[in-house]
Amino acid sequence: MKKAEDKYTVRVYVKGLVQGVGFRPFIYRLAKKYDLKGWVENRNDGVVIEVKGNKKFVEKFISLIKTQAPVASNIVRIFSKEIKPENFSDFRIIKSKNTSNEITDISPDIAICDECLKDMKTQKNRINYPFINCTNCGPRFTIIKDLPYDREKTTMSPFIMCESCAAEYKDILDRRFHAQPVACSVCGPEYELIYKGKAINDLQKILKIVCELIEAGKIITIKGLGGFHIACDAQNEKAVKRLRKAKNRDGKPFAVMFSDIENLKNYAIVEDLHASLLQSWRRPILLLNEKKRLAPDVNVGFDTIGVMLPYMPFHYLLFEKLNIPVIVLTSGNISDEPIIIENKEAKKQLSGISDALLIYNREIYNRTDDSVEMVINNKERVIRRSRGFVPTPVELKINVDGILATGAELVNCFCIGKGKQAIISQHIGDLKNIETLEFYTETIEQFKKIFRVKPTLIACDKHPDYLSTKYANDLELPKIQIQHHHAHIASCMAEHGLDEKVIGVTFDGVGLGDDNKIWGGEFFVCDLNAYNRITHFDYIPMPGGDKATKNPWRMAVSFLYKFFGKDFLNFNLPFLKDINKKDIDLLFYAIDKNINCPLTSSAGRLFDAVAALTNICTHSTFHAEAPMRLESVLGDNYNEYYDFEIMKTINFDKTFKGIVDDIKSGINVSLISAKFHNTIINIIFTVVSDIRKNHNINNVVLSGGSFQNRYILKKIENLLKNNGFNVFSHKSIPTNDGGIALGQLAIAAKRREMAL
Ligand code: ZN
Ligand code: FE
Repeated sequence: MKKAEDKYTVRVYVKGLVQGVGFRPFIYRLAKKYDLKGWVENRNDGVVIEVKGNKKFVEKFISLIKTQAPVASNIVRIFSKEIKPENFSDFRIIKSKNTSNEITDISPDIAICDECLKDMKTQKNRINYPFINCTNCGPRFTIIKDLPYDREKTTMSPFIMCESCAAEYKDILDRRFHAQPVACSVCGPEYELIYKGKAINDLQKILKIVCELIEAGKIITIKGLGGFHIACDAQNEKAVKRLRKAKNRDGKPFAVMFSDIENLKNYAIVEDLHASLLQSWRRPILLLNEKKRLAPDVNVGFDTIGVMLPYMPFHYLLFEKLNIPVIVLTSGNISDEPIIIENKEAKKQLSGISDALLIYNREIYNRTDDSVEMVINNKERVIRRSRGFVPTPVELKINVDGILATGAELVNCFCIGKGKQAIISQHIGDLKNIETLEFYTETIEQFKKIFRVKPTLIACDKHPDYLSTKYANDLELPKIQIQHHHAHIASCMAEHGLDEKVIGVTFDGVGLGDDNKIWGGEFFVCDLNAYNRITHFDYIPMPGGDKATKNPWRMAVSFLYKFFGKDFLNFNLPFLKDINKKDIDLLFYAIDKNINCPLTSSAGRLFDAVAALTNICTHSTFHAEAPMRLESVLGDNYNEYYDFEIMKTINFDKTFKGIVDDIKSGINVSLISAKFHNTIINIIFTVVSDIRKNHNINNVVLSGGSFQNRYILKKIENLLKNNGFNVFSHKSIPTNDGGIALGQLAIAAKRREMAL
């Protein structure tokens, strides 16, 4: 009887993120523990295991795969079937085979683990070695050139393992068994500091000089994991100001890195979820409420700071020596260009703006920025999805195979479909930048190669001028053009696996509508295939088109002119004091004659107008600055709101009259801002309740850049939930245009499926 049981044999398939995360060794150790014989093999489409042994143990083995898998792995599906027993003599790891056109997910980059931090202080050849890693941590996506994930297919390939590293790599019981980037001070990559024209390679000397320079208020360029960073003392206003000027970055806050969570807690309000996100292996930048001010030029008047904790071994070594708890660590680029990844390019572009340049000799293959998240209603919200997240796919319920979605334009990510998986690219950026456009086209090629996708269908935005649309046009493949806001809603639906009729609320800056007007304050009833625009914000002229986006005062004047005629010029509105009277007259003329005054229903432009009208932000120095500043002054705990009118569309006449009255009576901006935000929340609630009544739909989907507004998202989610709605908002996919590609992909897939 016992003998028969010990012959119990199964084949197990594990799908999901199981490559490059120490999965095979984990399986090996588990099999050994339960005295099972057989093998494990990495295939392009996942991991396959065959084991033979005691039935109870085999079952235990399968259940433990799920519960004890390595921290960075993510098992999507695991299934097994009994097979005929074979004569296994031992348990073995079989070398990778290129078996199919399917792929298993490549792991994102993983922050250094605790065990490696210990090894960095104790292990021969790795004392203070800044490229230490193991199967549980280290670079992954940033160094992968192709699948399967093996050392030869990474940028570690030029480094020949020394004997001791090779021994660890081969030793199944070692934590570095099959750790592809394994390295030590004898055989691995090294840093080099270029300072005053000299190259310094001794790490201790490098650390000493870098610390002295940072402490003296100097600026250092440092090669990071997915690209270069520029660093300086975050408490030294002079240094930060100089950096801001050098980077040509007017009002956009800088991210900072703290030495540890304790120091961080002195400067920002940290709740439990914040702490766990900050310390997670993804190590994102997290937006937190400020507690104590750093150098004012770090967050330039905002009440939030973008903070992160060390994630590379070098960061830890630096903070050990540095007498400063926090540094600015901003991306190494000039204004809006992509983050620099090549040593040569860094020397050329960043030497001039920094006092020393720290490079290393391992190539970065896939450029990734630091990811950015925030927490709203105690949920993680990714707003820039890059390092630590990419290329983890989104599992969909619909077949998206062979579809390439080219994304939006300003905050671009693209997305490719592989089976039922959507693989979203890292944050690419603003395609209007020629360097960014190059990054975009290159990365699409890399994704096609790495993930073995040959696009057969293209999904793109409706806007003919978007560079992502032009890219799509050049491909000469079947193409589906998708309305921007429909894509926003579909993106959120895809994230939550919805495939039914929903109420879609989508607020953002710009998206071309079916009537060729610029949409952005929209209420839909839609599914993945089609949408019905139920109502929207009233159209308003956008004087000067794009110029209005950069100059929120133009939108304020446009709204005021509509509701008051020229009378508002006599109201003594403070924001008009610094605006040239001639410019205002020109605006009237342009609006009257309809010269370059496209009509828009954009929520972003409405927020712009109110930010300018309240004199919080009349000129914008970066994307969405005005709405962000308007939000950052608002006082909590006010329930008042302004009047509004909902006819066929949503009219703000009474809202603006209320705001102007408040300004005239000297009400502070904090209250005005709160009242305005409450007005928007009220409008959403009123309209959505109405749609539920008429259409009998209870699912509400919220998407679009305006839902990055923490106050609005928090309040509307709660309000809708308390009134019995099922509310869906973004969590792991950006609510801004970075999420658009996923929506395009889902819509194209749905339409393709329906056409079959
Ligand atoms: Zn490790
Ligand atoms: Fe958008």
